[in-house]
Amino acid sequence: MNTIGHWIGGRRVDGAAARRGPVFDPARGVQTGEVAFASAAEVDAAVKVATAAAAEWRDSPLSRRSAAMFRLRELVDTRRDDLAALITAEHGKVLDDARGEVARGLDCVEFACGIPHLLKGAHSSDVSAGIDVHTVLQPVGVVVGITPFNFPVMVPLWMLANALACGNAFVHKPSEKDPSASLLLAELVREAGFPDGVHTVVQGDAEAVDALLTHPDVDAISFVGSTAIARHVYETGAKHGKRVQALGGAKNHMVVLPDADLDAAADAAISAGYGSAGERCMAISVVVAVGAVADPLVDAIAARIPDVVVGPGDDDTSMMGPLITREHRDRVQSYLGRATGDGAAVVVDGSSLVDRDGFFVGCSLVDHVEPGMAVYDDEIFGPVLSVVRVPTFDDALALVNANPYGNGVALFSRDGGAARRFEREVNVGMVGINVPIPVPVAWHSFGGWKASLFGDAPIYGPEGIRFYTHPKVVTTRWPDPASSVIDLGFPTNR
Ligand code: NAD
Repeated sequence: MNTIGHWIGGRRVDGAAARRGPVFDPARGVQTGEVAFASAAEVDAAVKVATAAAAEWRDSPLSRRSAAMFRLRELVDTRRDDLAALITAEHGKVLDDARGEVARGLDCVEFACGIPHLLKGAHSSDVSAGIDVHTVLQPVGVVVGITPFNFPVMVPLWMLANALACGNAFVHKPSEKDPSASLLLAELVREAGFPDGVHTVVQGDAEAVDALLTHPDVDAISFVGSTAIARHVYETGAKHGKRVQALGGAKNHMVVLPDADLDAAADAAISAGYGSAGERCMAISVVVAVGAVADPLVDAIAARIPDVVVGPGDDDTSMMGPLITREHRDRVQSYLGRATGDGAAVVVDGSSLVDRDGFFVGCSLVDHVEPGMAVYDDEIFGPVLSVVRVPTFDDALALVNANPYGNGVALFSRDGGAARRFEREVNVGMVGINVPIPVPVAWHSFGGWKASLFGDAPIYGPEGIRFYTHPKVVTTRWPDPASSVIDLGFPTNR
């Protein structure tokens, strides 16, 4: 059995592993490995190594940091197929999708290559007689990244590229469901020339997370995962004096107006609803059909579902892989029965479409869904697309804004005025206009609103630099000793 351990001080460490968790190949339903779960004592030892490394790394020249980041860029690029294969083996997503994940993570490494420019502070000369002011951005120290199962390479790269470039030590706690890619990333970081100890991986579950959230030497925490755990991480971390950004779950709507291009909208609903088996925080899970578009749109989506080839991620003909675990597959499937019981109409039932050993379920389409039904209210995180029918644009906007989540949303229309109003009035952090999955590029930042993000800091891009640094403002005077006087008044510039 493949045993997956930690990465501490620049090398693999088995750890005491009093507790371990199983790792599966979801396409075949078999256990392929066992991951060590760090105890609180092991977390403490790992954080000590990171703390020592952070003290040196913070003073490293910017040229050294950017050179290491450029080398990391080359290494991730060269090893992209190996990273993708590890993702597919443990997560199950199809290889093409896994390669796309690596590419989006690589974008974040490329952004961080520009760290000398990104850390330029501001300077004001002569703010008062003989006085200058400048701002510097200093690293926060030891930063923790707790990541979800659904992007085992991209989400860690969202965090670690900026965190290391800013001069911090980074401690990664990957998902226990697909932990192997984290160790290959750690090897690449080391090979790129980052010093031992600045990048640490501790495997584990809630015990390791809670030890990190409360550790006195941890300065900041980036979390990406479900809303319940994001809230816990935010509250616990903040209570212990940490800077925290905690990105949570989602229920993303795609509003289709009657003037939209029907084929483009149906294609987008299929791609964004069933891509990665719906296990994306930016997946579309609700199509909001406005007015007369509903019947033809539901027909167009249903007609496309048989074209989605479901199968193992390492089979080139597969378009959609399995779900992450057997339990998750059963939970996803259970929503179809509940939807019928709640009065919705199951147009396509994916649970009857797949007959395999792995954790597969087919694509499902549920019409006449309404708020208050479990299929609408819950984040299902599977290939189940709901259709809510509303009479007007205003009703669609009100529906989206009443939802407790606010991660992503899309509008499909040819009407520029409606699109402009939608963009301005929708209470969601990332908006797509005729773009179903509006994940921002690496030089913008990613973050939802409401229950999709706790804390005030979106992740990666310029906001990532802000999150991983403390601003310090220095006011300087080099006075002529002859002009020195005592003045107890409040300093003014006039
Ligand atoms: P999860 O919340 O179960 O796990 C995320 C991390 O938290 C993992 O590392 C896990 O080990 C840890 N964890 C789990 N239970 C814990 C507990 N009780 N106490 C402390 N730590 C705990 O999420 P997941 O199932 O791995 O990922 C899917 C979820 O992540 C979905 O809700 C999805 O929407 C969300 N997600 C959000 C974004 C975003 O950017 N907003 C991106 C990707 C995924």
